[in-house]
Amino acid sequence: MKIGIVGLGLIGGSLGLDLRALDHQILGVSRKATTCEIALEKGVVDEASTELSLLRGAEIVIICTPLSAIADTLKQLLPYLDPETIVTDVGSVKKPIVDQCSALWSNFIGGHPMAGTAEQGINAAQSNLFQGAAYVFTPNTDTKALDLDKLETLARSVGATTYVCAPQAHDRAVAWISHLPVMVSTSLITSCLGESDSEVLALAKHLASSGFRDTSRVGGGNPELGRMMAEYNNQALLRSLYAYRHNLDQIIQLIEQEKWDNLTKILQTNQESRPQFSN
Ligand code: NAP
Repeated sequence: MKIGIVGLGLIGGSLGLDLRALDHQILGVSRKATTCEIALEKGVVDEASTELSLLRGAEIVIICTPLSAIADTLKQLLPYLDPETIVTDVGSVKKPIVDQCSALWSNFIGGHPMAGTAEQGINAAQSNLFQGAAYVFTPNTDTKALDLDKLETLARSVGATTYVCAPQAHDRAVAWISHLPVMVSTSLITSCLGESDSEVLALAKHLASSGFRDTSRVGGGNPELGRMMAEYNNQALLRSLYAYRHNLDQIIQLIEQEKWDNLTKILQTNQESRPQFSN
């Protein structure tokens, strides 16, 4: 299949590597000419260009730019699309993107592969990034079943498990498991850095090990991505943050009042429940 990818970074580049390995013809478009050259050298794409006209004749186009550029990219892409071309994106927020893009192109289906690393850009692209990951699609009422089926088949071919839901449900779910953790994790780092005794702070930095590495990882990642999550998913994220603050306040109270049994009960419940959230 002839597949176009716009935005050759971590996600776009990684999709290119996997789809090309499956013998699809990959046409890549990115903003910078140097990115296109690296993509060709790395074997991410068969052809690359800074011009969207390269994507003429593509059966599927996957927009992998930052969230802020997705709708604008689709607008510029319109003159080069065949009437049957399916367009999807990989943005980590769906409702505002789906609203804008569906109005521009009726064969648009929102998508979000739940995979990533702390790196960004074409040099971060890697094979098998989507192996074992969830890949969500958010069709609308006009979506053709056959188009959705094509995208799901493509996502499964790179090792992902697909899920289909409404854009709003996606945004609320990822607020809990992806966007809230980024804000909690970044607050954790800010709090540690706020230690007023420089000797204690230096010691903490030396002593930090796997626990801190795990809990600070998502908060210490790409700032642009974190900002986009907050900007584009603000209602769902705020809802999750308020609930989190409430729960943190409860824990503070239990510790202040030395209610160790109540605290243990919460910890026990969460020890039992956590496996439900990870596969
Ligand atoms: P990234 O590594 O920074 O890649 C984005 C690429 O898009 C950049 O390398 C840039 O390439 C290109 N680009 C930027 N503006 C463009 C434009 N106007 N037209 C064409 N290309 C443009 O970011 P990413 O992590 O792959 O994220 C891309 C998308 O995936 C975002 O929408 C994000 O929400 C979503 N996502 C990210 C993750 C994650 O964990 N990182 C996970 C799932 C989904 P140049 O070098 O040419 O400027």
